[in-house]
Amino acid sequence: MQVPQQPKSFPPDSIARIVLESCQEAAAAGEVPAAAVICDPENWSVLAAERNRILELRDPTAHAELLCIRAACAAAESERLPPDLVLVSALEPCLMCSGAVVHARLSRVIFFTPTLKGPGLERILEQSRDGALLNHYPETRQWEAFQSEYRSLLREFFRERRSS
Ligand SMILES: [Zn+2]
Repeated sequence: MQVPQQPKSFPPDSIARIVLESCQEAAAAGEVPAAAVICDPENWSVLAAERNRILELRDPTAHAELLCIRAACAAAESERLPPDLVLVSALEPCLMCSGAVVHARLSRVIFFTPTLKGPGLERILEQSRDGALLNHYPETRQWEAFQSEYRSLLREFFRERRSS
């Protein structure tokens, strides 16, 4: 029997592996395990990969998605990202990162699991569509194939944190 293929709009699994490994790295450093990758959907080459570095940088804005946008711009040596890039994030971008995603004009955002608390990207896009409040609306998709693996990583992290 053939294994059904991922729909075309999803990256290869190797991209999800990079995100999950960065999440583990974050957790090992005591950071909430969140990570993100920016890639080019033409060939799924990775322009930037980052993880949460809030403790390390002593910066409440050092979320993986934001650092990833900065790193991709640095790699492109430009204040703008090349067009049509995809952000793959473990968590759905938060309020702050959603703003950054819109400003950076990322074309698509793929995440394993919806945001834990507060408004996430999908709700922000949904609620601002009516008043046309934003000048850019990225496509969003949940990558459910990796959701349970990521959730167990999160559960483990919070369990260990509670017991220490
Ligand atoms: Zn964020």
